[in-house]
Amino acid sequence: MEFEGLIRVAAFGLVFGLVALWELAAPRRKARFDRRIRWPHNLGLLLVDVVILRLLAPGAAIAVAWAAQDRGWGLLSVLSLPSWLAVLVGVALLDLAIYFQHVMFHAVPTLWRLHRVHHTDLDFDVTTGTRFHPIEILISMAIKCAAVAAIGASPLAVLVFEVLLNATAMFNHANASLPASAERWVRLLVVTPDMHRVHHSVRYEESSSNFGFNLPWWDRLFGTYRTQPAAGHEAMTIGVDAFRSAEDLRLDRLLLQPLRDTPGRYPINGRREAA
Ligand SMILES: [Zn+2]
Ligand SMILES: [Zn+2]
Repeated sequence: MEFEGLIRVAAFGLVFGLVALWELAAPRRKARFDRRIRWPHNLGLLLVDVVILRLLAPGAAIAVAWAAQDRGWGLLSVLSLPSWLAVLVGVALLDLAIYFQHVMFHAVPTLWRLHRVHHTDLDFDVTTGTRFHPIEILISMAIKCAAVAAIGASPLAVLVFEVLLNATAMFNHANASLPASAERWVRLLVVTPDMHRVHHSVRYEESSSNFGFNLPWWDRLFGTYRTQPAAGHEAMTIGVDAFRSAEDLRLDRLLLQPLRDTPGRYPINGRREAA
């Protein structure tokens, strides 16, 4: 645990570099905007998030996991599973909690305004996976801490989960696709770029699908799974209808975007109306 910060930064740098190279070698879609227009702002937002999180809640989820372990909080402390199994179950249950959190960020109008910052990116690539409003990051951290206490996840399970989630978030936002033969199998184990891209469609029935970030099972289990975008991956439109200009991609606009009104239906609402 002494090397926690180093593990996180090294894993981030490695996965970011690999996914960026994959996108350069075999891009799935033609980018609407030059990288120079989006990347500094998306990565600038990530930097704001990291600084705010380090200042306000450094290592919060792991600290809660230590406290839970000391005081015997949570489901897993009652079950007394072998430690390797407790880590696996802890990671899976944390992932389930994040699935429900993601659905909630689409369902509650005020939360959707925050999460919309992630969805208004007009291209879909590795930096989209790092683009979240800092207030969404803080709310997510609070929810994660509550989930860690309720589950009784160990500090190791939390570290594995956080490093894994950062890595898969970059992987499944890649502007790239696995070979079709492999894609079919890999999407049974982990959320693939082709699966998550559906979630970034402007069409509300598509953005109300595929909420998983890590394990693909929750969408299948709870009826929110959608195999492919109707228009196909090259032709589908990425983003949100009301935010289509290059200026909306700027860092200052991203930070203030939650204050702007939401025209039209927000995704979960739309899903019910569409049905
Ligand atoms: Zn979403
Ligand atoms: Zn996404």
